[in-house]
This record gives sequence, C-alpha cells and structure tokens, in this order.
Amino acid sequence: MSNFPLVSALVTGVAAAALVAANPAASSIASTTASTTASTVSEDCPVSEYAMGIRYQQSAHSAAAQLQSWSVAEARLKKLVAGRRGHGEQLAVVSDLDETVLDNSALLARDLEACHTYTTWDTWSDWEVRGTPSLTPGAADFFEYADRHGVAIYYVSDRFEENKESTLATLRGLGLPQVVPGQVLLYGPSKEERRAVAEAEHKVVLLLGDSLPDFHDDFDGATAGEQEELVARHAGHFGRDWIMFPNATYGSWRKAPLEAWEQPLTLP
Ligand SMILES: [Mg+2]
Repeated sequence: MSNFPLVSALVTGVAAAALVAANPAASSIASTTASTTASTVSEDCPVSEYAMGIRYQQSAHSAAAQLQSWSVAEARLKKLVAGRRGHGEQLAVVSDLDETVLDNSALLARDLEACHTYTTWDTWSDWEVRGTPSLTPGAADFFEYADRHGVAIYYVSDRFEENKESTLATLRGLGLPQVVPGQVLLYGPSKEERRAVAEAEHKVVLLLGDSLPDFHDDFDGATAGEQEELVARHAGHFGRDWIMFPNATYGSWRKAPLEAWEQPLTLP
C-alpha cells in the first residue's frame, strides 16, 4: 500500500459493523458514539475479560496489522493483474466484511461499557441497520486498486439477509466499489456456496477474512485442535491467496482451552 490516508480512518473511526463467523443474532442497540476506551468497565462485570481484546482491536498495533494485511493483498493482486494481461482472465477477490473491511469495535465497546455480553449478538442487528462502522486502514486503497484494474469484488458476509439494504447503504456510504446486490452475498448458504457464485464467472485469486471459515468450509465447526491442524495443512495459502486480518474481540477460539506450562507457579 503506497499511502496511508486510511490511518486516519482508524484513528477517528472506532465504529463499524461485524458479523461473526458463526453468525450472531439480533436486536437493539441505540448509540452510535465512538471513541470509548472501555476504561469504565466495572471489574465486577462478568464479561470484563472482553476489554483486553477490544483495546487491542482499537489499538495502533491492530491498525498496523490491518495495514500489513491489505498491503500484502495489494502486492499479490498487482502480480496477478500483471500476469493476467493478454489472457483475458476475469479475476475476482472475495472479501469478508466484519473485522476485515469494517471495524465494529465501537459496538462491542458500547456493549461492554453497559456490561452486556456482546457475544450473545442480540445487539448486532440494530448495529447493521443504524451503526456507523469505519473502514479498516488500508481497505479503501485495496478496493480502489482492484476496481480500477477490472477485478471483480465479492463481499461475502454473515450479516443478516433481512438487513441487506442497510448493509448496502453502509458499504456505499464508506465509498466501497462494486456494492451491488449480486456481489454482496449475506448469511444463508454456506460461505463455500457463496464463494462458488464468484467462481462461476471469475477466477477467484484472493480470499480475505478475519475468521478461518472465510477461507475454507473445513474450518467451520472444527475444534481448536482441528483448526490448528488445518492451518498447518493450508500454511502455504496464508499471505498468498488467503489474507488474514487480526480480530481479538470474538471468534470460535473464544472458549478454547489454554495451553499452560506444566511447571507449578513459584514466586520469588
Ligand atoms: Mg469477519
């Protein structure tokens, strides 16, 4: 990525909309205010453990990782576009939305401040309709490049189909290209089936996501151990045709057992 006007999007925008790989649920949220630090979360709140993940997601460290992911994606796409010339191939990229293109951390922080367990996803639908997500830093440049070079863009997300008009409006409002109903494929069929829609008419050259099922259905429903094995098996894809984005706020890893050093704790 050659320029970083997007960092400002990260610094100013704290909001966004995301959808869990597993598919959240519905209901109501009210505010759209950003820039919460989660510092007001009570230690008595049973979900206060979520604060650390949100702090990371809203940190410059996360922004740097997002920039890195988009930069790798764009470098890969440039090579593919250069190699395409003269062959008439119709290239496409398939991108997840939430916590890949869109930053939804403001919703999660708002819920946490109210000591609400956002992983019940009962505030999500309202966010899809009324929320004000921001782009992750680097996203705008990547999609502008893809669009300018005739690469088809498919947005494959587990956002609610019944909120599709709102999601289309959100994406258009953020200036993303190729936001048309046929290229924004929401929750219903598996992500594999929706990726097949893009593959029917294009050569899909890049998959982008923050959750492993964004890349292959084998990850969906797999245990933590199975996912680990699958990541090792598919290691050659990452950073090449599969581009992973950081998301410390939710995911199928959330309740995975910890792997601890077996030595008993001894204090000096
Ligand atoms: Mg996502």
